[in-house]
This record gives sequence, C-alpha cells and structure tokens, in this order.
Amino acid sequence: MHQKCNYCGKADYEERKTPYLYSYKGNYLLVSDTPVEICLNCGMLYYEAKVLKEIERRFFAIQKEGGEAEQFIEIPMMNYA
Ligand SMILES: [Zn+2]
Repeated sequence: MHQKCNYCGKADYEERKTPYLYSYKGNYLLVSDTPVEICLNCGMLYYEAKVLKEIERRFFAIQKEGGEAEQFIEIPMMNYA
C-alpha cells in the first residue's frame, strides 16, 4: 500500500489484524480483527481509509437502530472523590 513510511521513511511493512476502538461523542465501538499495516521500523499504524469508513458506517448503523448494545463497550470514568 505504501512505498515508504510517512514517519520514518522505511518501507518495511507487515499486515496485521488488531482491535480498533472507534469513539464518537462518548460512545465506543470496538471492532476486532481490523486490518492494519504496521511499519516494522517505527511502529506507525496505517489503516486504509475504506476500512475506517466501514467502521464508521457500522457505528452509525448500530446507533440508528438503537440496539446491539453488546457491540459497545463502556470506558469507566475515573472518579477521584
Ligand atoms: Zn516507520
């Protein structure tokens, strides 16, 4: 996908699948097995635009249906009383 890493300029990539956490206005969608290319030199992650678009589409589809709560995870707020 890339000729060179935008960050370090090397061209060593590996394709992996990792969980991706999408967040929007305090709601979260955790997408497992999101394809990503990782720079083996510096660790920069490169997600394909179409992958991110698909995650976004799924997020809003779920919100619109107002269901499938199990697809959301909650990030507990730390409470320092
Ligand atoms: Zn790099």
